[in-house]
Amino acid sequence: TRALTDQEAVLNGPFDLKARLLANENPFGPSAAAKKAIADVIDKSYQYPFMLLSQLSGKIAAYEGVAQKNILMDAGSTPLLLAAALNYTKGGKNVITGDPSYDDLPSRAEELDGKWIKVPLTADYKLDLDAMEAKVDANTGLVYICNPNNPTATVVDTEKLKAFCERVSKKATVFVDEAYIDYLPDPQAASMVSMIKAGHNVIVARTFSKLYGFAGLRLGYIISQPDTIKAFEKYTTQAWSISATTLSAALAGYRETDFLNDTLKKTNASKEYLYSVLKKEGYDYIPSSANFVMFPLKMDGKKFSAEMFKRGVGIRDWKFNGKDWCRVSIGRMDEMEAFAAAFKELS
Ligand code: PLP
Repeated sequence: TRALTDQEAVLNGPFDLKARLLANENPFGPSAAAKKAIADVIDKSYQYPFMLLSQLSGKIAAYEGVAQKNILMDAGSTPLLLAAALNYTKGGKNVITGDPSYDDLPSRAEELDGKWIKVPLTADYKLDLDAMEAKVDANTGLVYICNPNNPTATVVDTEKLKAFCERVSKKATVFVDEAYIDYLPDPQAASMVSMIKAGHNVIVARTFSKLYGFAGLRLGYIISQPDTIKAFEKYTTQAWSISATTLSAALAGYRETDFLNDTLKKTNASKEYLYSVLKKEGYDYIPSSANFVMFPLKMDGKKFSAEMFKRGVGIRDWKFNGKDWCRVSIGRMDEMEAFAAAFKELS
């Protein structure tokens, strides 16, 4: 077995960092109401949380304008990405993704018996929907659209994506991962849930891990056609996986607009500060529609990461389009200042 990299060590256990900017978490959450709900439910946590699960899916269904049979929840969206890989790429089917994009689903598919078709991004680092559509063939099980895209934090045009979903979903299932949609100015307008309501073969995945600040509490869900939800149920354990504490926290915090708006404001202030630091040091960046920013480095990415970790700042490096890149998650202002101080020493 090989030694863990610093990044992996942080993701796997405690690690003394001044700035934890490597997993697109939200350090402003969870909300006070969510934390209180966790404390309040402890006395009843000997009970299985079936009722809490259906109460929460009822709330989500009402907000999204769908039925509860259109929703399936699990402990984060990760188990649902795995379920999609299992269901749609068995028998050697292919999954089409952007490159780079979030690779959990396609790499799981590849570890099973699926095939992964990677389609480079456009010149402005967005998913190339036309090129992705051109790759769809009789063996395509799934087209995975991460919007906003991780790791580039870019969004595709909503009308273009709707037209794409309408056409492509006739040939293969379209999976739209909306983990970061809550960071857009009008998430409901940008969401592909409207395509599901119009009857198309589309799956939307959401998570509480980002704007809600629940990455450690674990809660995610998909919205899709009832038949699709049934197919997924074979591969998930739902109420047996999600804890009463997490469900109670989500019931207290779902659509808690004051908290969500406040988090967005703080995230945007930290992001503007990061942009100003990068500009001052003479660096470009990809304008971000999420809680992380990608920028090209002027040195080897692995060396840069290691030097930043030595200075107590966790970030992630990438290599694509022949360049080394750094992805910085947006944290508290003190974390961004720690990033700036360490970055100045290296740039
Ligand atoms: N989808 C995307 C695009 C992500 O970036 C992440 C995590 O960073 C996930 C899904 C998985 O999130 P979770 O399992 O916490 O819901």
